[in-house]
Order: sequence, then C-alpha cells, then structure tokens
Amino acid sequence: MITLTDIEKVYQTKTIETVALHNINISIRKGEFASIMGPSGCGKSTLLNIMGLLDEPTRGTVSIDGSPVRSFSDQALARLRNQKIGFVFQSYHLINDLSVTDNVELSLLYRSMSGSERRKRAIEALHKVGLSARTSHYPNQLSGGQRQRVAIARALAGQPEIILADEPTGNLDSVMGNEIMDILLRLNQEEGTTIVMVTHDELMAKKTERLIRLFDGSQVL
Ligand code: ADP
Ligand code: ADP
Repeated sequence: MITLTDIEKVYQTKTIETVALHNINISIRKGEFASIMGPSGCGKSTLLNIMGLLDEPTRGTVSIDGSPVRSFSDQALARLRNQKIGFVFQSYHLINDLSVTDNVELSLLYRSMSGSERRKRAIEALHKVGLSARTSHYPNQLSGGQRQRVAIARALAGQPEIILADEPTGNLDSVMGNEIMDILLRLNQEEGTTIVMVTHDELMAKKTERLIRLFDGSQVL
C-alpha cells in the first residue's frame, strides 16, 4: 500500500547537515499493524511524515498503491492524503474552543458531504472509540486518554485506509496507554485498518505484528 524505496532524508540548515534517514526500504502492506522503534533522534517522526506524504524525501521514491507520489500534482497529493491517511499525534492537536464533536467534524470540512452527513460520521467515529457520552464536552474537560480517543475518532471519521500514529501513548500513563492500544488493535483486527505507529514502549510494540527498528537513520535488520 505504501512503499518506500531507497529513501534518504537530509535536513540542511545554514551550518549543519543532518542525515535523518539513510537507505530506507520499507513496504507497508494492507491490513498490517507495524510499529517503528528506536532512540530519540533516530528518524522515526521523519519516516512517519514521509510515509504520510507530509514531508518529501531528499532522494528515493514513495509509492502509494504502486504509483510513485512524484507523479501527482500538489492538489492530487493533498486529496490522497486527506482521503487515505489518518494522523494521530502524541500531543492530540485538538482545538480547545470546539466541542468534541466539532473537533471530529472539522476533519471532514473539505469533503463533499452535507453538514448532517459530517455530524453523523463524527458521532459514529466517537462511538467507535467509546466516547458517545462525551460528544458535547470540550477537550479541556477530558482526561489525556479521552483526548487521544477524540484524536483517533478525528482520524477515523474520514474512513482512512491507513492510520499513522506518532507516539500515540507517549503522554499517557500505562492504564490509558493500554486503552488507546486496545482501540488501535481492534481497528486493525476488526476493520482491517492498516496502522503504522511510532513508539518508545517495547510493551506496546510487542502487541503489533511487525517491528521496524531504526538506529541513526538506518533500518536495523
Ligand atoms: P525521532 O522522531 O526518532 O526522534 P526525528 O525524525 O524527529 O527523530 O529527527 C531525526 C534527526 O533529524 C534528528 O537528528 C533531528 O535533530 C533532525 N531533524 C528533524 N527535523 C529537522 C528539521 N526540520 N531541521 C533540521 N533537522 C531536523
Ligand atoms: P510531538 O510528538 O513532539 O508532540 P507531534 O507528534 O505533535 O509532535 O507532531 C509531529 C509533527 O507533525 C510536527 O512536526 C507537526 O508540525 C506535525 N503535525 C502535527 N499535527 C499535524 C496535523 N494535524 N497535520 C499535519 N501535520 C501535523
């Protein structure tokens, strides 16, 4: 579904050049749940951002369903990202002035659907993460685990084929972290959603079927 071939990522600032990724070859298959582990600074977020078409590699090819991303216009790329990929971040990125439902609905703003359809999808997504009783709450009235569940619902509302999660349990204690992990495992097993998750936590990584280890920008085999 997403194939990275000979990926190299170099960050160039005025004074220093950082090779964040070197010679990366990874294929994410449909229905897979993979985790990415490695020490801080080894390139995990960079890798996830490249998989999610948020960032471009310096060299190499990213292909989606066999088509090199290079061949798409910016507009086509934005549509692809919007329709196929759901993002979940460590720090939730919710808007505090909007209710839980409005936060989830916001992700559907650029889809061609009616307001009532958007609302219906948002409510369904919140139901899937067990937050039906919190739809009118605001983010600062929720626990960290509940906020992350809103963020997962926001990713789900767009019915993505793949979810990319960057340390989704990183700010949570082990109880809430396990709740989030159970939701992701259920999505993968019951709905067949492909998931790639960056984590520092060996216990979380062990629950996924595939482990990709990075060290200093390279894959450890
Ligand atoms: P990780 O997610 O594993 O902590 P990152 O992908 O965030 O690692 O970063 C990999 C390397 O690239 C690090 O050395 C980091 O300092 C560097 N880096 C990341 N983003 C930038 C940037 N925008 N500009 C310059 N260097 C960066
Ligand atoms: P951290 O884990 O350090 O808190 P995040 O996981 O929140 O960082 O964010 C990782 C990267 O993704 C950041 O560089 C951020 O700019 C980018 N990002 C965060 N939220 C979004 C979003 N909703 N859409 C696109 N990019 C985002």
